[in-house]
Amino acid sequence: MTAGNTVQAGGPEVIAEASRRRTFAVISHPDAGKSTLTEALALHAQVISQAGAVHGKAGRRGVTSDWMEMERARGISITSAALQFAYGDTVINLLDTPGHADFSEDTYRVLSAVDSAVMLLDAAKGLEPQTLKLFDVCRYRGIPVITFINKWDRPGREALQLCDELTDRIGLQPMPLTWPVGTAGHLRGVLDVPRGEFVRYLPTAHGTTIAPDERLGAREAEADLGADWTQAQEESELLRAAEGEFDASRFSAATATPVLFGAAVRNFGVRHLLDLLVELAPRPAPRADADGRIRALDAPFSAFVFKVQTGMDRAHRDQVAFARVCSGVFERGMVVTNATTGKPFATKYVQQVFGQQRSTVDTAYPGDVIGLVNATALRVGDTLYSGKPAVRFPGLPSFAPAHFAVARPTDLGRAKQFRKGVEQLGAEGVVQVLRSDLRGDAAPVFAAVGPMQFEVAAHRMDAEFGSPIRLEHLSYQVARRLADPSQRALVDKGRNSEILTRLDGADLALFADELALRLMVRANPGLALEPLVAEGG
Ligand code: GDP
Repeated sequence: MTAGNTVQAGGPEVIAEASRRRTFAVISHPDAGKSTLTEALALHAQVISQAGAVHGKAGRRGVTSDWMEMERARGISITSAALQFAYGDTVINLLDTPGHADFSEDTYRVLSAVDSAVMLLDAAKGLEPQTLKLFDVCRYRGIPVITFINKWDRPGREALQLCDELTDRIGLQPMPLTWPVGTAGHLRGVLDVPRGEFVRYLPTAHGTTIAPDERLGAREAEADLGADWTQAQEESELLRAAEGEFDASRFSAATATPVLFGAAVRNFGVRHLLDLLVELAPRPAPRADADGRIRALDAPFSAFVFKVQTGMDRAHRDQVAFARVCSGVFERGMVVTNATTGKPFATKYVQQVFGQQRSTVDTAYPGDVIGLVNATALRVGDTLYSGKPAVRFPGLPSFAPAHFAVARPTDLGRAKQFRKGVEQLGAEGVVQVLRSDLRGDAAPVFAAVGPMQFEVAAHRMDAEFGSPIRLEHLSYQVARRLADPSQRALVDKGRNSEILTRLDGADLALFADELALRLMVRANPGLALEPLVAEGG
């Protein structure tokens, strides 16, 4: 173990290590089975012997206060677990995403750190609102998506219908690699489409053991399964005729998605998913920096911070910054440079977060996630690098807020704590912080994608910064970026609109609703308003 400011030269070892990595996240609507699938994947990789070790489950989706309690009790495991496990020769990095829609901005940031995503659908529900939102981010970022249709062990919709939904609603060509045999709720197994074989459904109790595959050739399958087998063949053939052959390049280009059917809770289809990730999912690739220059994988160490998490526990005010390694070898003890401040950052305390446990990381390669502890100097979007030249990766996107509230300290004597807290929450991206001369610094406006962000912000202002706040909700729902500052007055003098400035200097025009926005645009045709869906920060 080397310590100090060693600049690790890259080389073939880095390229080889990077190509063993698969770094991905599961995107899904709450309840589709993300935690169950995560456990099943880890189990299959035989890292954990008993399901349930990754996430405790009790009361996971309670009310907000429960969420806070759990967050406190479990330290950082709920929103920030980055799980690493070996599967054969492959190193799997599974990045966790928060389950609640209100934290979708966090999820978006996590997605900036992955190379692919598994879109998990509930067979009875198909594409749900949160899945759609997250898929939009994958599309925006060009992230290839594998689709896993879950809960096939119980009644649900028809396979063809679910595949059609992918084409019709999100324009993604479904390329099924398995196809269910048997009716919904009476699953007999799946057709392994490329091999033309039958894989029998052998449920194992709640994923506590790994079922071996039982396979039959086409002829045996027909004899054994009769009409169910023929129907599965016909349906999958129908889809192939309509959508075309499986084409890995279309998956990489994110225009098509391989589809698997399974039941995570029964451990069915999970191994297939792992094999598919190994075979097909993109390996870490060289990344472009903010100037568009490509940073080779074997260049000296570089990484970017995609998430900063502060322990909610008062006794342990530790702050962990999660960074994805983009190039080179990370070695614990290295002193790296923070590109934002130009200052050195010592990486003595680095952890890998595995469920509720943390273990020290000594070495990490491109695609891996490192958790830098006590990283109070680090912000989301920061680049860390070693050696020369300096490198800075593009900032992370921030999203259109839809909820706005004025924050005021309830204890005016704690103005300093208030300012510090507001600045920190803004920097972490817990909420976006907006201000205007009219409102002044004592009354910043918090903007959020979902209202639960406000509760987290208020809780932390009190518990962590010692400045309790009162939030006064504003009746704005729609935000646009105002491109031309000379037009500020046009928006500001509207009755249902206002201009506020974000910490990064962007002018946001807020409107009571879509109607107010339309009326404003109609009255001022030259107004330069840009959508805020997902912009590079
Ligand atoms: P998450 O909110 O997406 O993390 O979903 P969970 O993993 O907590 O699963 C939600 C519920 O669906 C739980 O009761 C699971 O036991 C159940 N579930 C998950 N996968 C399956 C499956 O394959 N079949 C069935 N029948 N239930 C499942």
